[in-house]
Amino acid sequence: MTAYVDSLAPLESCGLLAGRGSKVEKIFFVQNQAQSPVRYVMDPIEQLNAFEWIDSNGMELLGIFHSHPTGPETVSPTDISEAAYAVIYIIFAPVDEKWHARGFWIENGGFREVTLHIV
Ligand SMILES: [Zn+2]
Repeated sequence: MTAYVDSLAPLESCGLLAGRGSKVEKIFFVQNQAQSPVRYVMDPIEQLNAFEWIDSNGMELLGIFHSHPTGPETVSPTDISEAAYAVIYIIFAPVDEKWHARGFWIENGGFREVTLHIV
């Protein structure tokens, strides 16, 4: 994911994470239709195809990731207002020229950080 995010910077990039329980088994890299450095809009066809794949493979949508090439390291007010799914939102942002990934749970107009275990 880091390589993907890096390859598309300074534009925001995005994708979906699917799996079972809390373990991610599949990553979908989805085109950012907005082609913007400050926002992302997932390509709806790619998103739909991913959802169908997830369903037909007995998995669940666990997370949505996107990058903030110019920060912030946490969710933005736009991320909160546009959060449509009860999943973990992972934000990639550069810190000292290295990409960091942080996970957040967004609800009720706010957010809290969750711990990500990279295995
Ligand atoms: Zn964002």
